[in-house]
Amino acid sequence: MSWHGKHDIRCESVPDPQIEHPRDAVIRVTSCAICGSDLHLYDNFIPGMTPGDVMGHECMGEVVEVGPESRHALKVGDRVVIPFTISCGACPQCLRGNFSVCERSNRNASLAQKAFGRTTAGLFGYTQLTGGYQGGQAEYIRVPFADKTHVKVPSNLSDEKLLFLSDILPTGWQAAVQLGIEETDTVAVWGCGPVGQFAIRSAVLLGAKQVIAIDRVPERLEMAAAGGAIPINFEVESVMERIDALTDGKGPEKCIDAVGLEAHVSGHIDSMYDRAKQAVMAESDRIHALREIIYLIRPAGTISMPGVYGGLADKVPLGALMNKGITVRTGQTHTQRWTDDLLRRIEEGQIDPTFVITHVADLADGPALYETFRDKKDGCVKVVLKP
Ligand code: NAD
Ligand code: ZN
Ligand code: ZN
Repeated sequence: MSWHGKHDIRCESVPDPQIEHPRDAVIRVTSCAICGSDLHLYDNFIPGMTPGDVMGHECMGEVVEVGPESRHALKVGDRVVIPFTISCGACPQCLRGNFSVCERSNRNASLAQKAFGRTTAGLFGYTQLTGGYQGGQAEYIRVPFADKTHVKVPSNLSDEKLLFLSDILPTGWQAAVQLGIEETDTVAVWGCGPVGQFAIRSAVLLGAKQVIAIDRVPERLEMAAAGGAIPINFEVESVMERIDALTDGKGPEKCIDAVGLEAHVSGHIDSMYDRAKQAVMAESDRIHALREIIYLIRPAGTISMPGVYGGLADKVPLGALMNKGITVRTGQTHTQRWTDDLLRRIEEGQIDPTFVITHVADLADGPALYETFRDKKDGCVKVVLKP
């Protein structure tokens, strides 16, 4: 499936990817998924896509070709999940486990430097800024640095149990882990999309005293409650009042922003901000969930921010952030840092990631399902596609 502009994703024939570098491998994709991050491209919130770019960064499949320098690690027929963060495994950042800021995997490093000041890792299907690598919502994908950019998975588990190791399971996990959860902590998670769902279950697993889930989509809130969270629907109740009641008026020690750029204005934030200012907010200013978090979090608390932002978001309440002494942890996920542990937890049955899947369809149905997922129609939480 390729990107042709705002709300224009097409399923069309493209040339089969080839080995271009001795460390590459080519994978025949057996399952892939649509991510909330893809929606930012679908909505054209993030610059740097070129018409024809193949979408997708959550995929798995079977190795069909291996370049000579990756043969020590991979062979034809291996079953692999592909982490969305392309990592060389040998640069100073990779050696520290900071795989999403690999210094060598972004072949468009100068573009990243213009946007971010320094380069970050190459990502699949995610704009020229992160390398312009073709994505995995396709029959085949070329994997650069394939000897380090793969997770070998056993044959006795379904694709559905393993696929999310590519991104959203480690993303929800990292979001919770980097909060440093203590047993007395309340963790509040804004956004109950797939990332929020895994963040909620991770926070429960990591022993939080209570987990609060905020969204406005009833099915997603029900799923969050089934995972052990106390749901708050920001369209029908005051987030501030409910959170105050649950935390003795002090706010949660730990907060997760699993919303990102698509944030809707919640009722509470309306009362906190001048509506006139909101009316002139650019699309890149859609940081409503983050603002609410900064106001409601307990002083000396920690915000973990897997939600993706782009551009120069404006009107961040820096005064509140500074005076309250808030720690902010963020980033694209260092996927490979967590996948061994998470795979073991899946194999042991401690984590079953399949609960988020609401739609399984052919790749050809993908363009319509982008819209279904974006608009949360038909109870949609997570779409898996079969090429
Ligand atoms: P999603 O779009 O399905 O989920 C976002 C959810 O936030 C929706 O359920 C929406 O109803 C809810 N929401 C909107 N406004 C809100 C508000 N003001 N308060 C509370 N909830 C609100 O997407 P997803 O797949 O779950 O992804 C979530 C975010 O995580 C996206 O920004 C995505 O780009 C990002 N992401 C980051 C990484 C990473 O490595 N850091 C990886 C994957 C996804
Ligand atoms: Zn993703
Ligand atoms: Zn590296």
